[in-house]
Amino acid sequence: MKKGRIHSIESFGTVDGPGIRFVAFMQGCPLRCQYCHNPDTWDPNGNCQYELTPEELLRQALRYRSYIATGGVTLSGGEPLMQSEFVKEYFRLCRQEGLHTALDTSGAYCSGHALEALEHTDLVLLDIKTLNPDLYPKLTGGKLENNLRMLDVLQERGIDTWLRHVVVPGLTDNDEWLDKVGQLAAQFSVVKKIEILPYHTLGKFKYEKMNLSYPLEGVEPLSRERAQEIRERLSAYKPCS
Ligand code: SF4
Repeated sequence: MKKGRIHSIESFGTVDGPGIRFVAFMQGCPLRCQYCHNPDTWDPNGNCQYELTPEELLRQALRYRSYIATGGVTLSGGEPLMQSEFVKEYFRLCRQEGLHTALDTSGAYCSGHALEALEHTDLVLLDIKTLNPDLYPKLTGGKLENNLRMLDVLQERGIDTWLRHVVVPGLTDNDEWLDKVGQLAAQFSVVKKIEILPYHTLGKFKYEKMNLSYPLEGVEPLSRERAQEIRERLSAYKPCS
């Protein structure tokens, strides 16, 4: 098997799944979300910090076993399922060690090794970009159907899911469409929680460094107050944080 290309590692992650987690951010993503704060992960052949086999990454994770015992490991990105064979094997090994496995994905891949990887996944953090079919391609460069197909698969397989949703002023900060995210969550018993991720501009400097124009120039970060208001609104459908 090819080594996994890993953009970076966070040994004590607290925001990508429950508890303290060993988080590896995989290199490569087929989407181009306008609000992406990690454009340096887009190119699958771009600079990455590590090239490791699943066994080697597991060895790194196990160094923190006592800290992550009640949390687990997470693969994020980029889009981890772009290297789905690696995900499958790494998660299989992690589970053998009794580690909880979480996958942060946009659902852009939903066949072959990607489906097999789900067999070893305890929790999926599914990034619902927007449910507005007109906005989705403009916002992400991808297809809404993939997002939704992944959710169907997770339901069929009974895999716990948290829906994540980035709220961007002027784009996805819209009560009607936010309610649709809540209504979608309510239809799926595997969805245990909705996570509202307020848009921020912390990744802007990376665009400058990469000589890319910043797609959301002039858009202000979502305020704390508005994020809280949205969380309360969507709590009518599922627990929301
Ligand atoms: S899916 Fe994630 S990594 Fe890929 S472009 Fe969108 S925000 Fe960035």
